[in-house]
Amino acid sequence: MDKCKEIRSVILTDYIDGQLEAPEKERINTHLRQCAVCRGFLEEAQKGLVTPFQGQNRQAVPQTLWPAIVEKICQEQEHPVRVFIPRLAPVAVSFLLAVLITSVIFFNQYMAGLREEEQLNYVSSAFGVSQAQTETTSDFGTLIEEYFL
Ligand SMILES: [Zn+2]
Repeated sequence: MDKCKEIRSVILTDYIDGQLEAPEKERINTHLRQCAVCRGFLEEAQKGLVTPFQGQNRQAVPQTLWPAIVEKICQEQEHPVRVFIPRLAPVAVSFLLAVLITSVIFFNQYMAGLREEEQLNYVSSAFGVSQAQTETTSDFGTLIEEYFL
């Protein structure tokens, strides 16, 4: 049964296309002489896949088709940037705007929820100045003031 399955897959492809080497073709023919089911399968396959195309003339490809394809490819190769950037730029800009607006909204909400002292702490830490440093600086400023006064 598995053998029939394998034979039929060859029938559907290379056998019907006439692409088989002589020994392989003979192997299939030997099986076909012994197996009525596969012979029936070959008949059906030929009816469906070969007969409809027999006697059909190959359609001539229009002379202008290939030059048109070449021209199109060349145009895309000459101006890849011009085609690419206008499509990408609005996407990038709107993405950046969305990120910016979102972060401003969140920042405002965050600040509104904080007391004034906490806001100062937040701003100091955001700019890399710790509360301790701020205090030290102000102490130092006081000392300088005292020194000069
Ligand atoms: Zn068979």
